[in-house]
Amino acid sequence: MISATENTAWTLVVSKGQSRNPKKRELEQAIAELGQCIDGLQVLVVPHLYDLPKGSDSYKKLSELEGNLIVVSWIYSRAAHWVLDRNGIQGQVGEVLISDTDDQDDEATEDQDVAGEVVDAEEAEEAEVIQRVTDLYPRTSRSIHCIDLKIADQVDRIREEIQRIVGIENAQSPPDSLPIVGGQLVQIDEQTNRRWYPVIDFDRCTNCMECVDFCLFGVYGVDGVESILVEQPDNCRKGCPACSRVCPENAIIFPQHKAPAIAGATTAGDEGFKIDLSQLFGAPAKGEDAIEVAARERDEQLLLAGRDTVGIDDQLKKRQAARQQAPKDELDHLIDQLDALDL
Ligand code: SF4
Ligand code: SF4
Repeated sequence: MISATENTAWTLVVSKGQSRNPKKRELEQAIAELGQCIDGLQVLVVPHLYDLPKGSDSYKKLSELEGNLIVVSWIYSRAAHWVLDRNGIQGQVGEVLISDTDDQDDEATEDQDVAGEVVDAEEAEEAEVIQRVTDLYPRTSRSIHCIDLKIADQVDRIREEIQRIVGIENAQSPPDSLPIVGGQLVQIDEQTNRRWYPVIDFDRCTNCMECVDFCLFGVYGVDGVESILVEQPDNCRKGCPACSRVCPENAIIFPQHKAPAIAGATTAGDEGFKIDLSQLFGAPAKGEDAIEVAARERDEQLLLAGRDTVGIDDQLKKRQAARQQAPKDELDHLIDQLDALDL
């Protein structure tokens, strides 16, 4: 038996995927079993976290847990963190070394080389400090490490990462050599339906309320302290990501969207240079304006709901003008140069 670091409570949460793919089920099972081999690590297996309502048994159980969490799920790490946050399971973003940037770092590095542009770290420090929602309302100090099973689909890789996170030095033991320690696994089976709603990354959100004004389906609201809130998630129109295109901070995530950035893929790059993938991989097609696309997507949903379209309204026009007048930053120059290369 191997043991997690003393004096720290750890729970491994295995969030099952939506599909019934037997390979996925096997991987989830294997991860739950390897978690049982680590003394001091509780294991909780729940249905897909995104689909669960806040009042579900799974979230009730999660809210009872104290200490740090390692969460494995089939959505991007950033998406999983903020899905938990919106359901009251809050904490700091814990480091995960196998992340969704692994597969994209090379691409990002190539892009930097193509553009020949490197943002100076000092310039970044001099940039205006913008207050985020989590600056105003800091989360508790517990750490939540979210591992994305889409990119880490090998048990050995996940085991090593879990052992690293909980502070076990010997990360080389094969799972077969580890005895199962009974009584530590709780599995909650409950019925879920597939859902579609936005999740806000409060480390990015500035509470600007653009999304409240843009959404005409009453999804967003404000809480008692005038902070943005996804108030009626199930009013959201399935498959539409329109508001994520108008958020100035790329803070709105649709975890099940096919575009990585809209689904919560993170930035790539080192400390001195970060490329926002949402502007490279989640952006509308070349030549399209994000505001126009958002207005079109919103109109499509209004028509489907039997309502009148609104097109690019005054608020969007202002936003479009502000975007066009804003001085180009390093990323804009990078995108311009990539466009010029016609890749
Ligand atoms: S538009 Fe984006 S930054 Fe503004 S309140 Fe909504 S989520 Fe936050
Ligand atoms: S996708 Fe559309 S319906 Fe859903 S929250 Fe955004 S604007 Fe509202």
